[in-house]
Amino acid sequence: MKVNGYAASKAKAPLAPFQFERREPREKDVVIEILYCGVCHSDIHQARDEWGGGLFPMVPGHEIVGKVIQTGPKVTHFKVGQNVGVGCLVDSCRACTSCHENLEQYCENGFVGTYNGIERDGKTPTFGGYSSHIVVDEAFVLSIPTNLDLSKTAPLLCAGITTYSPLKHWKVKSGMKVGVIGLGGLGHMAVKIAAAMGAEVILFTTSKNKKEDALKMGAKTVVISSDKEEMKKQTGLLDLIINTVSAQILLTDYLSLLKREGTMVMLGVSPDSLNLESHALIMKRRNLAGSLIGGLKETQEMLDFCAKHNITSDIELIPIQKINEAFDKAVKSQVKYRFVIEMNSLKIKD
Ligand code: NAP
Ligand code: ZN
Ligand code: ZN
Repeated sequence: MKVNGYAASKAKAPLAPFQFERREPREKDVVIEILYCGVCHSDIHQARDEWGGGLFPMVPGHEIVGKVIQTGPKVTHFKVGQNVGVGCLVDSCRACTSCHENLEQYCENGFVGTYNGIERDGKTPTFGGYSSHIVVDEAFVLSIPTNLDLSKTAPLLCAGITTYSPLKHWKVKSGMKVGVIGLGGLGHMAVKIAAAMGAEVILFTTSKNKKEDALKMGAKTVVISSDKEEMKKQTGLLDLIINTVSAQILLTDYLSLLKREGTMVMLGVSPDSLNLESHALIMKRRNLAGSLIGGLKETQEMLDFCAKHNITSDIELIPIQKINEAFDKAVKSQVKYRFVIEMNSLKIKD
């Protein structure tokens, strides 16, 4: 089927209208009409080829919410008309230990990314959610709880699960102090979810104008990271730090805020290498860890958790024609707190 979307024709090229083919649905495929797609900072890193190895033309987008318009004959979980989501993965080997443990994101044979990836046939490139339709095996499709607003739910498919997964893995609960660095797409979800899990949340931001919002989202304390005195007050107090910053920052300053044996989890994927002094880890047996999105089972669990706690993303809805402007604003931390593309806008003639 012919599909309209927006693509970067080569690294750093502005996104522009692009027509391409989606496969005919296989037995277990679901055909989804895309209604909304969030704009993740990973879309920008990849469309600008900041991590290297990008496949072009590239149709970004992995925070997809839409409606099922067709199902293959062996689809059992989804029906035409149902609202569904697709996140960062559209396939994995389904045979390795990680896949068997519902950790498809760590598939030992490599997961298939929703875009900038290659299908398991070894040759077909994947194209993401900045497009009118997508065809996905039902094993990689999520159900959207009925009480959630669809446009505000799109960012949960990446920003939501990427922050929920480490908060769960490090067993965040009431009585714990969780630091979040950066109030962007991931950061604002981390604040909301950690607060809903019962933690006391301390937000670290470079943007003074985000303070009030962070407090409303559930942070108990907001520290402007350039304020050395305020930073120092947190020394040795935090159980866990979720680092969502998309650029490299001096980690030593933040590691010293952890308690003995506390952990900092790296979520941001800066193109530059880590910047830290090892004594900050050694002196208090602290840990530095990383975490990658989440598996399908956990993503469904996160959606159900958000539905129960009435958590969605704070968004700015844009037509697809504004995507290049949105990329530039996101890089300058000028989005509150996630751009979401209204996909109906694809029908507008430029
Ligand atoms: P985003 O919306 O742009 O948010 C990043 C935030 O980091 C900004 O809002 C800003 O917060 C802060 N920041 C940006 N530049 C900074 C700098 N130079 N110094 C200090 N702080 C800075 O991005 P996002 O979509 O949340 O993504 C964040 C990162 O996570 C990206 O690198 C993305 O690729 C990565 N990511 C990783 C995973 C994973 O599985 N691990 C999944 C999705 C995304 P303040 O204004 O509050 O300071
Ligand atoms: Zn993402
Ligand atoms: Zn696998």
